Formats: sequence, C-alpha cells, structure tokens
Amino acid sequence: MREPARKAMATRSAMIIVKTPAEIQQMRLAGVLAAEALREVVRAVRPGVTGTQLNTIAERYIRAHGGIPSFLGYRGFPASICISVNDEVVHGIPDGTPLRAGALVSLDLGAVVDGFHGDVAVTVPVGEVGPKLHRLVRVTREALSSAIDVVRPGARLGDIGAAVQRHVEAAGFSVVRDFAGHGIGRALHEEPQVPNFGEPGTAAALREGMTLAIEPMVNLGTHEVVMDEDGWTVRTKDGKPSAHCEHTVAVTADGAMVLTAIPDGVI
Ligand code: MG
Repeated sequence: MREPARKAMATRSAMIIVKTPAEIQQMRLAGVLAAEALREVVRAVRPGVTGTQLNTIAERYIRAHGGIPSFLGYRGFPASICISVNDEVVHGIPDGTPLRAGALVSLDLGAVVDGFHGDVAVTVPVGEVGPKLHRLVRVTREALSSAIDVVRPGARLGDIGAAVQRHVEAAGFSVVRDFAGHGIGRALHEEPQVPNFGEPGTAAALREGMTLAIEPMVNLGTHEVVMDEDGWTVRTKDGKPSAHCEHTVAVTADGAMVLTAIPDGVI
C-alpha cells in the first residue's frame, strides 16, 4: 500500500527512522510472512475467484503464522489486501465480484510481526491475457528490479525514481506520480516518500539501516489517475490497464537486502 504523494520531501527527510541490524532482522520476519501470504493468494487466482475469497486467504494465512494484517483498519481500510483489477491502479477494496479471464489483478498486502511491517505487491494475469498486458506486467517487475539495483548508502531517492521512470518510459508506458513508495518499519508508512520518477543525484541520500517499500505503479496509457467515490480505489484516468509491484528493502553496506524475497516468491 502506498500513500498520497506530498510536497516538501526534503524538509521531512530528517524524520527518517534508521533501523539497527537487529531491527532489520525482525523486519525480515514480517517481510517473509507478507511474501508467503501473497504467494498463497496468487496461487488461488483464477477466473471465478472473488476478491472476498482472496482476502480471506490472506488474512487467515497472516494470522495463522503469528502476524497481523497491516492494512486491515489502516485509516479505515476494510480489508487485509488491496485488490485492483484492470484500470484500478491501487487500493481496490475486495468484494464478491468474480475475477474474469483476461483481466490483470494487482494484489498488495502487508503483515506485522513483533511490531514491524512488511509490504509486498504483485500484478498477475487472470487466466490468459494478451501480449500487451504480459509486457506491462514484465516491464513493471523489471522497473522494480532496476530500482532495487541502485540502492546503496549514498545513492539518492532521485536515483530510485529515475531508474523506474527510465525503464518504464523506454517501454512506452507511464509511471503514476500521485502515489509513491515509502519508508516502513514500526509504522506502515514512514518517511521518506519514494517516488517512481525523478532526477538522478537529487533528493535525500540513502543511509545504511533505512528501510523502504519500493513500488512502481505503471500505466499502459496516461500517468494520470482518478479516485473512485469509495475514497480508496485509484483508477487510470483513461481507463487503460495498470500494473504494480512492490518489495520492502533495507539499505545495507552491500546494497539492498530484499526483506520480502522468499524462495518461489511471486515477486
Ligand atoms: Mg507500500
């Protein structure tokens, strides 16, 4: 899950909470649980399954393994997972509508373990989809990988945004600007914002011990988005499909440690 982009990132960078190695190990547990829960949900995606059913799978898995769903009740969000279909970018609320073959579904969830959050997301096809949608999903994953690759002490937040933007726009797609990734730790959303666009060498410098949720949101058409009347669901303004993926990472001396990476993971 992400938060609305705000101005004045630079002035808030002093509030970034750096974690100790022991705290990062605790966050790794939350990241693994979130990633495992997401893997369970993805295994259940098929034509006919409902968002309500996927939400139940996510919540049960997280609770059965000693965690608490991060999203349930967050600012009043009514579910344990965000399910965003086709032109829905992020923050879709699960409901009883069956998923249709040929759709893209974005799945985003978080888990709290011992007070720390892990946040992870992926977009997957429902049944068979065409080559254009496969490419949208692939480019979104590649953009996340390229962003993770630039993470190291001394790199700038602008380097992360630029890596995402460069890859996405080279493929002919667009990055959402109104929502960003975020710091994460004892709170689901901490400083700093992690935009998916930017200029290399600008914005705050990364320091060892920072923990970030990096999450490209990539649109097939315009980058512009609109908010649904439910106050949560974000859609593309032009009604074209969107994809999203997310990892929680820690900045270490050796680069990024991906806290939501697991064997056979879906992202
Ligand atoms: Mg997030």
